[in-house]
Parts: sequence; C-alpha cells; structure tokens
Amino acid sequence: MRRVLKCGTLYDGSGDAPRQDLAVFLLGEVVEKVVPWRDAKINDGVLVVDYSNQVVTPGFIDAHVHLVFTCQENHDLGREILEKSSREELMAVALRNCADSLLGGVTTVRDLGDIGYVTVTVRNLVNKGIMPGPSIFVAGPPITTTAGHLHFCKNTADTVEEIRKAVRNSCEQDVDVIKVMASGGNMTRGSNPMMPQYEVEELRALVNEAHRLKRRVAAHTLESESIRRAIAAKVDTLEHCTWRGLTPEDNDPQHLVDLLKDSETMVTLTLAGIHRSLLGVHSGLSEIIISSSMAASPTGKLNQDFAWTKALIKNKIDVALASDAGVRFTSFRDFNESVEAAIVALDIKLEQAISMATQVAAKALGISETVGTIQTGMQADLNVFEKPGSGRNLGKIKDVYRKGSRIVADANLVFPAEEAFGTLNISTGQEGS
Ligand SMILES: [Zn+2]
Repeated sequence: MRRVLKCGTLYDGSGDAPRQDLAVFLLGEVVEKVVPWRDAKINDGVLVVDYSNQVVTPGFIDAHVHLVFTCQENHDLGREILEKSSREELMAVALRNCADSLLGGVTTVRDLGDIGYVTVTVRNLVNKGIMPGPSIFVAGPPITTTAGHLHFCKNTADTVEEIRKAVRNSCEQDVDVIKVMASGGNMTRGSNPMMPQYEVEELRALVNEAHRLKRRVAAHTLESESIRRAIAAKVDTLEHCTWRGLTPEDNDPQHLVDLLKDSETMVTLTLAGIHRSLLGVHSGLSEIIISSSMAASPTGKLNQDFAWTKALIKNKIDVALASDAGVRFTSFRDFNESVEAAIVALDIKLEQAISMATQVAAKALGISETVGTIQTGMQADLNVFEKPGSGRNLGKIKDVYRKGSRIVADANLVFPAEEAFGTLNISTGQEGS
C-alpha cells in the first residue's frame, strides 16, 4: 500500500539543515521518494498522513546498548541483578527494553554485551514478528580477559589461541558483530579502566578471525593506549573512545585525530545517563545522579571531557552517537536525551546531532546502504516528533515507523504494527539476520 507523509519539517539524517513542507512517499517497507509537497501528485487510494505541524527524522540507530541490563542507580546493583538473573528473566528484560527502544524512537540497536547469547534469541523473535522491537544486531557476551571488564558475562580469553576460539564460538552462536574489551571498565569491580587488557597481536588475531567470518569488531576503549592498539589492529569501531591517559600525548586530542585521519576505524561516542545529567539534559535529576556524574567525569571539567570528540568533529572525522542504554541511569526510552546532550557537549546543531545518531551510526554498523537517511530506496524507519519547544529540544515522540509500518502511534506501542495486521508470521523456517 502507498502512503504519503505530509511533513512540516524534515531532518533527512544527512546533517543538512531541515527542510519544510515535503511529501515522503512510502511504498511497502521503503521510502519511494521525497518531493516538495506542492509538487506531490496524490492518486486515488493513496493514504495521506498529515504531519504538517510535526518534525520528521529517520528512526534513531543506537549503536551501543545492553538489552539485558536494567538501568539501575549504580553499577554494583546493575551487576548483581545481572548475575542473579535466570535466562528467562534476562529474556524478559531484553524484550521490555526492545519495546522501550521503539517508544524512544530507536528503530535499530546494536547490542554490545549480553549473557548466554540471550539477545540472539530476542533478535530472532523480533525478526519473525513474534515480539515488537527494533532491528537488532548482537555481539553476545563480550570477549574479555580473565578478571577483566564484564568477565561475569562468561566469555573470557587470554591467549591468541583462546581469542580465536572465542570469536569462532560467538560466530557459531550466530552473532552479528564481535565485541572486545580492549581496556578495563567501570562496571566491573577490580578492573582498571585506565589500562589496556590486550596486546596488539592479540587484538590483531581477534580482528582477523572476525573479519574472516565476516563480522565487524567493536572495541571497548576507555583510555588512550587501548585506542592506539585497537586502531593498529584495525577494529571497525572504538566504543566510548575516551582519549585520556598517563602521558601528555595520551591527553592531547590531536594525537587521536592523527591516528584516525587515515584509518578505516570509526568512533562511537556514548552519552549515557551520567553524561546527560552532567550536561543538564537528564529528566530525572537527583542528588545521586549528580554526585555519581561528577565522580564519573575524568577531568571534573566538561569541556575537557569532550575535547577529543570536538577535535574529531572539527577535523571531519565521523563520530556515531550512542547511549549505552541499560547501564546506570540510562533507560531505553530516552535516546533523545543523548541527542540533546551531544548538542550541549559538542556545540553542534540539531541536524548534526541527528545525523550522528542516524546516518553516521548506520555507517558504523556497516548498514548505511539501507538505513539512516530518508531518501529513495531506504528502509522506511521514521520518527515523528511534536514541534520542539526550543532549539536543541526535539519535542515529544508522537509516531514511529519501522519498515514502513507504524509501530508507535500517539506515543503508544501498536503491535502487531499497523501495516502488519493479519500478516503475523510465526513460522520457524527462517532464522534471523
Ligand atoms: Zn556498553
């Protein structure tokens, strides 16, 4: 069925300034064309949906989430719940987070760490139309060192041989991407976020094996030396990518710019609840959040925390925007807060922040041929917002389309999605992506 969305304001995901009064034609799961409304020829039988008082953007792509995490007030509690949960409980949490993603306008997620490959099953359930959710790309449990960051997710590997085996195991479990903890992290007691976890040769073996099996590699990096090693090993994306370390060079953003200028490696900036709160865009601001946020700031000074990101953007190096949803204070419904936080932290325009969370994020995931922008032939993943209250504010989500079907209507989940009524297919013949 053909539908035309009459769009008052359209951000197409490219980073260009918004355009007014456009007609977006949808045909099945894709965008057929985008033309000025005055030039649109509407034939009989075509349904017109009037968004002339609304703002339309591509569906958001959250390039870094944890569907089995429960967004607690601190890392210890989050980890404890995670470790004590049964597989069924993890599954229920993940499915709930899938629904919340849609309600937050996120139509694609990349899950970078679960337990027991629960997210593989979740992805398949959503792909089959049995449960509502965004398009899902999964890594399964992250590969880490013994006692390393997220070791309790149970995918530890310490030698080159073990690392190759771990990659092969994950691929056998049908993951879409490989996640490696290249540095320590904050959520794991005893882990050191200011030190690398693997040597370059070890990361190289991991990347080679993953690429041989046609999987991209996402590397968790919270300090400069792990970033240096991950780039040398040719990982595809640097997660968090916090450029800070023990020497002056480790803290000078120009060195990161120089490393990335001629590299294929991309960067994912995660603006989680803690950053949103520091930047003044967290909706549920409390004393606990504020004090945790200050403690989490590497420098105690916000302009310095994001100096490396600003340097990359100034040098036209792509940075994808993600939320790390599932970690403390970071619910799946509030992705728009990460977009707003990027505007504040990086001093960029709304159209640039939207592009980081759509077109650039799609590039980071290797799916920019099909999603991330609103143009002819692209998958019809779209968000509709009520008009914004201020320059950086996107406004409230009204409707969300995924693959051409409206799955959120007036801020409520519609499932099966509108276009899919009567076509629910629960055959088990075909496994997910
Ligand atoms: Zn994460």
